[in-house]
Amino acid sequence: MKEQGNRVVSPVWAQRIDVKVEEDSLWVTGWGHIYGPLSTGEIDRKNLSNLDFFRRLRLRQSEVRRPEERSGVYQYADATDDEKLIDFVKRFGPVWGRVLSRNPESNGTTTLMVLENLIQLRRGQEIFAGAVKIIRELNRNAKADPAEIVSALKIILPPNMRNPSCEANMEDTPKVIPPIPTGVDFVGNGIAERFSALALELWGSKGVPESDKKPAVIICARQVLCDLLNRHAPVLVPVENEVIELPVMPNEGIMEALYFQLRLDFLAQRLIGTCLNCGGHFPVFRRGTKGCSTACRTALRNQKYWKTHKKAVNRNRRKKHPGRK
Ligand SMILES: [Zn+2]
Repeated sequence: MKEQGNRVVSPVWAQRIDVKVEEDSLWVTGWGHIYGPLSTGEIDRKNLSNLDFFRRLRLRQSEVRRPEERSGVYQYADATDDEKLIDFVKRFGPVWGRVLSRNPESNGTTTLMVLENLIQLRRGQEIFAGAVKIIRELNRNAKADPAEIVSALKIILPPNMRNPSCEANMEDTPKVIPPIPTGVDFVGNGIAERFSALALELWGSKGVPESDKKPAVIICARQVLCDLLNRHAPVLVPVENEVIELPVMPNEGIMEALYFQLRLDFLAQRLIGTCLNCGGHFPVFRRGTKGCSTACRTALRNQKYWKTHKKAVNRNRRKKHPGRK
């Protein structure tokens, strides 16, 4: 697959977004929805960061330095409460909702009205965060922590499929491993859900030797991840004399684009770091990076400076201001 380069970009869901929250409903209005993809030749360069979805996702608030290091889709994984989720939708659009209206405007764009359910939004975030956690571990290769993977699989498994006995299965022999279903069965049973359940069962079973548990969990987790990513497959787009892969950006929301970036990070075996300052996730482009953004890295440097120079700084302060502690 060729990198999309700068010639074609995925447009933002909408150029201006308004969200009204009413109990569990998010009424999202988007002005300036463009049916993508966009050829960069057609856009004013100044307007590119407003129109390019991935660029806008990477630019957090006012930070514009080194945009390739911004956490992008990981902001969604880190939106662990309603306030953060709603803020995310306000900035980027609905993750996935029901289209209520679609009005073509005279400038060629569309005004959209989408209803997103907060309960589904929360659940979608959980699954996405679970996928991020699995990628984070799998991309560490030999250092992958199976307990972390298991905790992510527990989240991916829908609550009604969670068997409390899975967590500490005291059966001496594991149940027969069911083969991957085909045909009609396949439609009813998601591979991701089945393999999450299987991994939890193997992990908790007394009948599986401890040394076999980690490789078994990893095999299942890879299957789970492939299935989740396959559910959000990109599409092929002809560009000049080539064909490239891009996410679809439908009226319903930005979910496909979020998984698209995750897919790229998984395939590139990119390390996903946890910011030591804010706890957010970010793709690691340079080994040893400890902060997710310029602001967090500066804060960490300041903390480090304070720790190592605390005594000297205080001594100087006392000298300057005698009588103060
Ligand atoms: Zn941070």
